[in-house]
Amino acid sequence: MIIKNNVVHGGPTLSIPAHLSYGKFVIDKLIEHNADENKIALVHGDVGEKTTYREILKYVVHTASGLKKLGVKRGDIVALCSENRLEFIVTALAAICCGATITTLSTQYTKDENKHVLTISKPSLLIASEEVLKQNFSIYKEVTYIKKFIQMNGKPIDNGIIAYKNVCAQVDAFDFEPEEVQGATDTLFLLYSSGTTGLPKGVMLTHVNALYAAANSLRESLAPESQSRSCHLTVVPWYHAYGLMTTINNFIIGRMTVYFPGFYPEKYLKAIEKYKVNVLLTVPPMIVFLTKSSLIEKYDMSSVTLVWCGAAPLSADTIRDVMKRLPNCKGVLQAYGMTETSTSATRDPERDTTKHKPGSGGTPLPGVRVKVVDVETRKKLGPFETGEICIKGPVVMKGYIGDKAADRDIMDEEGFLKTGDVGYYDHDGYFFIVERIKELIKYKGHQVPPATVESVILQHGSVAECGVVGAPDEWAGELPTAFVVIKPGHQLTERELLDFTASRLSPANRLHGGVIFVKEIPKNPSGKIMRRILKQRLQDKRKSK
Ligand code: AMP
Repeated sequence: MIIKNNVVHGGPTLSIPAHLSYGKFVIDKLIEHNADENKIALVHGDVGEKTTYREILKYVVHTASGLKKLGVKRGDIVALCSENRLEFIVTALAAICCGATITTLSTQYTKDENKHVLTISKPSLLIASEEVLKQNFSIYKEVTYIKKFIQMNGKPIDNGIIAYKNVCAQVDAFDFEPEEVQGATDTLFLLYSSGTTGLPKGVMLTHVNALYAAANSLRESLAPESQSRSCHLTVVPWYHAYGLMTTINNFIIGRMTVYFPGFYPEKYLKAIEKYKVNVLLTVPPMIVFLTKSSLIEKYDMSSVTLVWCGAAPLSADTIRDVMKRLPNCKGVLQAYGMTETSTSATRDPERDTTKHKPGSGGTPLPGVRVKVVDVETRKKLGPFETGEICIKGPVVMKGYIGDKAADRDIMDEEGFLKTGDVGYYDHDGYFFIVERIKELIKYKGHQVPPATVESVILQHGSVAECGVVGAPDEWAGELPTAFVVIKPGHQLTERELLDFTASRLSPANRLHGGVIFVKEIPKNPSGKIMRRILKQRLQDKRKSK
């Protein structure tokens, strides 16, 4: 770690395989782990279904060969939508091996949210679970780009859908070669994020971005303490970069991942005891649950030696509280980053938990440079000075698909990505996130773009203007809250607006913080909502309670 000219350098850049193909890298690793025929890769925490590395390798190769026969090729966009299940990860890896770009959709998206992201990514193939297709097939059918549908499980719900099991072709893993790609420029993952402003955009992560993130996880896993932590538990959805990339990284490293399609508190604790889980991959609301729930006392938590937490802030106090409830836990480590930085740009050192600083998002990854700049003057700041965090390095995305203006807005003149997060670093190069100056709200780790919520509120005939911000909340992080101006001569109650928006917004995007009716929305001279003032009003309201 070096701090030079007010830039924190994470050390020398890591090596990645010269072929620059994520598919080839993953297949090589699966072949390596397949040497032990009983080695478990995945366990469904609820139903107990276990899948070995040998099986995963076979399924990925068979599926990739079948997809190739179906015409999937380099450059195609393949959309995936499913709750966490074996077929999700297998079909994702198989499509990657065909050279395709993977785009993952939330199972919670509403009709409009689905249409918005599918219009951005324009996939030609959509692979989804039976549950999702039952809910969304009529919506997907209206998207003319999608030419083929594959159903992951169960009998296809429509004649126009291909059953996943009919796609597979029997090919030996040792005869299989993933498609060649241009890893520095080919998009591997197309994921959605609103960045610092506006509606969700398509984040293009290349093979090199993902290989670099994997190389760092692999490096961390070589530390002696990490090797004893071979069983990880995740409930983070695989449509999010954090869930998807950490699970594939576990395959690369050769760990066992216990997964759930959602967070079921008691089953989660039971799984920790049953599978002797060593590492929990979490988001802050789960940590709050672990600190508060009395259920935890019923189960043996002694196997847990490490907890990872990302996606939103977590205070040092909460970390101390959760450590008390996990008797052998050496630390609650945090990583900080964005979808646009292939998830982590900084992280706590796993190799030596005594070096981690509670409440910090850790230090930059090797090869990554991070600076803090004054929000007004853009001058680089020194240790303990608070400003906007900006990131440069091999984890930074290629750009937003089809949105050059957004690309220009998010990069600064020195080629650093402007995160919209405010924080500082200390003399050891550890970063601390203080607040967010971008529009984004985070509800239980999920992105809630205010622009998405505002566009729905504005569809109500009695609303003249609105502005949506996050109200701080211990459990959820932030609660989307609307300030609303009613049209003259109209009447509108909070209940009416909550009902109207609930049916048009996915669960995370709903107005969990409620509605506040106001006479006007503060705006700057160019008409931009002054969210800072709205947030301040929320704080004042809280204090006066
Ligand atoms: P996403 O692209 O969904 O991963 O969201 C990225 C945003 O989540 C960041 O820009 C931060 O605002 C927030 N975030 C992620 N990790 C952390 C962390 N460790 N501490 C505080 N905020 C975080």
